[in-house]
Amino acid sequence: MITIDGSQGEGGGQIVRSSLALSLVTGTPVTIENVRAGRKKPGLLRQHLTAVHAATEISGAKVDGAELGSQRFVFEPGTVKAGEYRFSVGSAGSTTLVCQTVLPALMLVKGTSNIEVLGGTHNPFAPPFDYLTKVYFPLLRKMGPIVESGECRPGFYPAGGGSFRIRVIGSPNLKPFELLQRGKLVRREVRALVANLPKHIGERECKLIARKTDWDAKSFIIAEVKGSPGPGNVVMIELEFEHVTELFIAFGEVGKKAERVANEVLQAARKYLESDVPVGPYLADQLLLPLGLAAHQGQPGAYRTGPLTEHTRTHIDVLKRFLDIEIDVEEDGDMRTIRLWKR
Ligand code: AMP
Repeated sequence: MITIDGSQGEGGGQIVRSSLALSLVTGTPVTIENVRAGRKKPGLLRQHLTAVHAATEISGAKVDGAELGSQRFVFEPGTVKAGEYRFSVGSAGSTTLVCQTVLPALMLVKGTSNIEVLGGTHNPFAPPFDYLTKVYFPLLRKMGPIVESGECRPGFYPAGGGSFRIRVIGSPNLKPFELLQRGKLVRREVRALVANLPKHIGERECKLIARKTDWDAKSFIIAEVKGSPGPGNVVMIELEFEHVTELFIAFGEVGKKAERVANEVLQAARKYLESDVPVGPYLADQLLLPLGLAAHQGQPGAYRTGPLTEHTRTHIDVLKRFLDIEIDVEEDGDMRTIRLWKR
């Protein structure tokens, strides 16, 4: 039994989700204490509870003490099985984060899993569905498993009501992974989604980004989302390079000007473009888990990113508790090279 202090470092949901994922993969029971102690509303929220239920369902786990608001619970995993799964967050909570909890275990077992997750698909403080499709899954595929996106019905905070499907064909043995350079820029796309709001919001967002860049008109897409229960607006900038794709997002809100949303996402994309590292700040914390698992199997991994976020630092500590691995961070000016290998 491993005991994880959920208040350590970043003190958020990632410690909980990552501990569940690692418990599933290693078969090690875990007690998580001080769940999300670093957050305004501590304890398990609906999204985290759905992640616990999802982890329980795919492995027949025994769980004690996991309820809404719980600040301590025990998770004893059973045997992970590929199969047909449907998880509902039951609010606008993030579907992608629930997906990322069970994905590491399902991508390591033989067989095909078809997973549907219902809830919010484009949430602040979480990877949007497009991020999984364009950024995360292609990198996982380089490591052996097949992970593909199916259809997505966008659901925005606060109404939620979205869903997406993915298909996973597991590969028990992962391949080594290295991502040190971006390579050349291949394509860029600016996509403004507008649901149950006037289309001119998306038009103004694209217009502002077009005016501030030399990106050609073909790079801009305005999509009116049908069938989403609530209003929603996001702008995403996708930058595809030879070896990696990165994606940045900003969210529209009541009382927030479309131009501000556009400026926000453009700023994030520019910061990345100026940095010359392949891995952006969010991908840096999300890549650690699959690379940690590969390292645990004896397959080394490395990637280059910018200065580490608190999420990344905390994630490194959690991985080292479950896996037989070393993680080294080499500093060179504003660049960090993270290397993982078997201890
Ligand atoms: P937590 O705050 O602990 O629930 O973790 C949030 C997770 O969502 C982290 O893995 C972040 O990297 C990820 N995340 C948050 N915002 C974004 C974003 N805009 N794009 C991609 N990933 C994100």
